[in-house]
Amino acid sequence: MNGKEQNNNQINEFSKNLISWHKNHGRHNLPWQKKINPYKIWISEVMLQQTQVKTVLPYYEKFIKKYPTIKDLSNSKLDDILEMWTGLGYYRRAENLYKSSQILQEKYEYNFPESYDDILTLPGVGRSTAGAILSIAYNKKYPILDGNVKRVIKRYFAVRGEKNIEKNLWELSETLLPNKYNNIYTQSIMDLGSLVCLRNNPTCNICPVNLNCESLKLNLTDSIPEKTKKIKRKNLKLYFIIIQNYKNKDLILMKKNSKGGIWANLWSFPSFNEKCILEKFLKENKITEKITKYENIKHNLSHMRLNIEILRIKLEKEFFLDSYYWKNIYDKIGSSKPVISIIVRLKEEQKNENGNVLKA
Ligand code: SF4
Repeated sequence: MNGKEQNNNQINEFSKNLISWHKNHGRHNLPWQKKINPYKIWISEVMLQQTQVKTVLPYYEKFIKKYPTIKDLSNSKLDDILEMWTGLGYYRRAENLYKSSQILQEKYEYNFPESYDDILTLPGVGRSTAGAILSIAYNKKYPILDGNVKRVIKRYFAVRGEKNIEKNLWELSETLLPNKYNNIYTQSIMDLGSLVCLRNNPTCNICPVNLNCESLKLNLTDSIPEKTKKIKRKNLKLYFIIIQNYKNKDLILMKKNSKGGIWANLWSFPSFNEKCILEKFLKENKITEKITKYENIKHNLSHMRLNIEILRIKLEKEFFLDSYYWKNIYDKIGSSKPVISIIVRLKEEQKNENGNVLKA
């Protein structure tokens, strides 16, 4: 099936019906929809990559409050952005926002570019994100093809299969674009995908484009898109060791993860894949103090199931190690969810200890 061969009626009615449906049934109160500008749309679109709106909302609000403009973002430090991103996952996005803000400062004097090609040069911005920024913020005629929109288009035109269909879907997405109100249209098709044309049990009876939907006509809404096989997560064992400074128990030995791999650029305790490597680390660094066990943590990533065994050592002497730093648990740092949850536990523990000392 080729986009150009589609029934004209099917195409013309689509955007018209969608735009008028959006007026009463679309989402109008998302924080990035207030006083729209390309910066806000860019931030929200990057946060929404692989992430649901309800998860993004508190992060977005906090982010825009701290970095209301491109200038604020470009004057920030990557560490601060990563700290804000903790828990949102896919940390490469935070790094890309930071790198992009430097480009926006140097090349565009803190302005957001208006050209499709320029926007595409920003790290982490793909075709769909660029299309969303241009259509929503500048009301330009550009298609998008995020996960929700892809599902709507596949169902509306009954596009089957998964392989080699990307080009066709982009063509169809482009074909459906109206000649005006592209800002409203893009929001409408996004909303249709997330509110009506749901992955399971789409509510076709209330769908504004149900009259010409091929999947509905052919009774294919359950089989398009095809169910993808669930990725089997690998199990991985990790060992964290919490090493507390001998003078100040608020200070913990930490290292910034290298680029690449999971949790790149985030702060972490010394961590190891095997217990024998951890033991070797302790031996080589002459750490002989008593090791105690801390409650283990299980943490799921998109492709891995982590079982983290946590050990703890309170040092009794001065200690320094190349590439490791003494970080205060009360400082804000960019870190992974498991590390942050351990730090929260440490703080609570200390609060209780201090409370008990005061009571005594
Ligand atoms: S009619 Fe149903 S399957 Fe077709 S676009 Fe609407 S919600 Fe999706």
